[in-house]
Amino acid sequence: MDIEQDILSDAEILRYSRHISIKAMDFEGQEKLKLAKVLIIGAGGLGCATSQYLAVAGVGKMTIVDFDHVEVTNLQRQVLHHDADIGLAKVDSAKASLCQLNPHIEVNAINSLLSEEELSQLVSEHQLVLDCTDNVQVREQLNRSCFKHKVTFISAAAIRMEGTVTVFNYQADSPCYQCYSALFGEQHLTCVESGILAPVVGLVGCIQATEAIKTLAEFGDNLAGRILMVDAMTMEFRSMKLPKQPLCSVCGTPAPTE
Ligand SMILES: [Zn+2]
Repeated sequence: MDIEQDILSDAEILRYSRHISIKAMDFEGQEKLKLAKVLIIGAGGLGCATSQYLAVAGVGKMTIVDFDHVEVTNLQRQVLHHDADIGLAKVDSAKASLCQLNPHIEVNAINSLLSEEELSQLVSEHQLVLDCTDNVQVREQLNRSCFKHKVTFISAAAIRMEGTVTVFNYQADSPCYQCYSALFGEQHLTCVESGILAPVVGLVGCIQATEAIKTLAEFGDNLAGRILMVDAMTMEFRSMKLPKQPLCSVCGTPAPTE
């Protein structure tokens, strides 16, 4: 069987050999990564952390969406942006760094604040969506689109010394982001007011990237139906079950009409 050699070049087999040595990954997992299309919303702290590992890991196609420009205050944690990038669109700066990290991948940069229809179209063209935004409205729009198209949604957040990661796979009995925000309330704090420790956003982004790779290569148990909470102040990790809300406005069963 040389199927794997048709998908991965010799150069790629060598490049990813430490991945391929992981039994659960093997050639098949690495091929799935190469064939994957991942949509990343946000090229800030989380977007930089998670996308740099997806790039070096060999995720074949990534689309990055943001409408912001690089500022000097971003450089403390947004590792894909450099001093010379100040003033550039974040997606262009991120794309340049990602392509340097791995020339075997394709990165598509979209420098725009998309409408819900445009986002939904984009979601339908990808097999995984990573929420790297700190915007609740965008997160809710993404959740609706991912639910509609049944595209797995990996949501992460980091602020101060804390972070959360969860996976929504939209299976019949699993919760969605709306179920979660109904339970916990929405996070309206931003890093501008509250601050964020540089490696904490990196840590949370790396967990998000790990969940993305497991989901794409189809191994392990991901955080579907659970939320992982990281408290870097005490360095405690806790995971909690997330219940589906039967009357959820997005994923709940509509009440019978008479
Ligand atoms: Zn729901």
